[in-house]
Amino acid sequence: MGNGAKAQQKRERNAKNQKASASSQLKANNAAKNIICKTCFQTFLCTSREKALSEHAENKHNKAIKECFPDWAPPS
Ligand SMILES: [Zn+2]
Repeated sequence: MGNGAKAQQKRERNAKNQKASASSQLKANNAAKNIICKTCFQTFLCTSREKALSEHAENKHNKAIKECFPDWAPPS
């Protein structure tokens, strides 16, 4: 196996690693966004504050927080 083949292998390995980390990052982002507005389907981070959600409901839809986020409950 010459140097050229080794370099090619290295490039392929690097490309694979980059792809894997990119997709796992994407998964983490999707998992973090688990609050969805039932009115416009905008996603919010699960760590979003009640204030941010109620502001969205009131300002965007003129609705109560429970109308846009019926599944959301304040952290206990
Ligand atoms: Zn909305």
